[in-house]
Amino acid sequence: MSTTPRVRFAPSPTGLLHIGGARTALYNWAFARRHGGTFVLRIEDTDPTRSTQENTDAILRSMRWLGLDWDEGPEVGGDCGPYFQTQRMDLYLEAFEKMKAAGAVYPCFCSAELIAEKRAKAEAEQGGYGGYDRTCRDIPADEAQARIDAGEPHCWRLKVPLEHGDIVVNDAVRGECRFPIDAMDDMIILRTDGTPTYNFAVVCDDIDMGITHVIRGDDHLSNTPRQILIYEALGAEVPVFAHLSMIWGPDGKKLSKRHGATGVEEYREQGYLPEALDNYLALLGWSLDGETTKFSMETMCTHFSLEHVSKNPAIFDFEKLDWLNGEYVREFDGEEFLAHMAPELIDAGLCTQEDIDARRDWFLKVRPLVFERIKHFNEIPAMVAYLFSGDAVELDEKSVAKVLQKQGAKAALEGAREMLADEELGWTCEEIETALRELLEKLDAKPRKVFQPIRVAVCGNMVSPPLFESIELLDRADVLARIDAALELATE
Ligand code: GLU
Repeated sequence: MSTTPRVRFAPSPTGLLHIGGARTALYNWAFARRHGGTFVLRIEDTDPTRSTQENTDAILRSMRWLGLDWDEGPEVGGDCGPYFQTQRMDLYLEAFEKMKAAGAVYPCFCSAELIAEKRAKAEAEQGGYGGYDRTCRDIPADEAQARIDAGEPHCWRLKVPLEHGDIVVNDAVRGECRFPIDAMDDMIILRTDGTPTYNFAVVCDDIDMGITHVIRGDDHLSNTPRQILIYEALGAEVPVFAHLSMIWGPDGKKLSKRHGATGVEEYREQGYLPEALDNYLALLGWSLDGETTKFSMETMCTHFSLEHVSKNPAIFDFEKLDWLNGEYVREFDGEEFLAHMAPELIDAGLCTQEDIDARRDWFLKVRPLVFERIKHFNEIPAMVAYLFSGDAVELDEKSVAKVLQKQGAKAALEGAREMLADEELGWTCEEIETALRELLEKLDAKPRKVFQPIRVAVCGNMVSPPLFESIELLDRADVLARIDAALELATE
């Protein structure tokens, strides 16, 4: 076995990359990075009816978006390729010949119908089907060969070594797991049509690719003893296994569409940042030190270890993910923040890229208005639409009733209009604030009584981003026009 670990993520392209798969990929990736090992991506596309190119593309796209770069695999190549199972049939047949030569397999002539009949009978009479009853195991070799030569349909089964004793898996996450040998049936290795079964192909690939650690979802735990028997039959060293617990929704049931988005690309479309999703996925079963929730992938890569992976099911907490996303959003500043905000503003029809290029400094000033209030960049357009509506702003009805149609509103607006119309007043946040605070004194009123009507007039509602900063970002003439419009509705 090589000294540096080789791990793999082996998705079947029968669907998109989901949260569970993404976490498996992340843990494999982090494990490889932690130990200076190799992260292999292998596409298990042997189910021709359900595997699609679109799904493969989407899986690769999602992994790239999450920053989970693979060292060997599709589009990257490597010494152990090809990395698509459908292109590796020769390897499986070669391994099969080896098993045949070692007497580890036997041909089985029982038809699918016959087996279905036996299964139905066993389920009805003996309280369960214990697997294939090994009818063909004892057919003498020459007789079996004669039947094959005569063209009789057959598959090939593993001759489970009955004297083996328990199969013991020293799982790096779950500890010791024992599987009694008499619970193992003589599983099919090669189907009647000559194609390899899942368990067989996976083992051939993992051996050929020199995989040292198999880190995967615990839905595969029951396959593991079967796979170990295949390793042994092939005379290969068994890798370390680590099975990751299930991910549950907040109600304790398996995470599904009912709980919320399950596909990585859905999160991308909803405006989540890859940094936040990675960080959140890292926490789904692993912890840095038991308390730190926010950490970078670099930190994860220097600390990740299987010993700290929990064997208990992880609960997906959508609110925590949102919170984390907000934390990452706030980390962006200046041009970086603008780069994330720009597509949102453009998609919402508030401006064009040309507008942004022409007034970069202005756009850079939008961040302070919003960054403390958002968890996603896509919340920005609705929050700042008033900055893009020229001399008129859409007034929120409730705010009009609660603020503009209250005593004192008119005086506040008139006072503000006068001060802001003064050409002597420089159009900066500080000067605007100083002037409006003077107004406060003049009117001898509480800040809320004065600033709220101005806020509604200029920004359209009571809960807008900070007022003075907003005014600074608008043209003086537009602000005055908005105040005039509000004055029409204001009460004495
Ligand atoms: N192709 C399998 C799946 O998508 C994974 C196999 C493995 O990790 O061993 O569930």
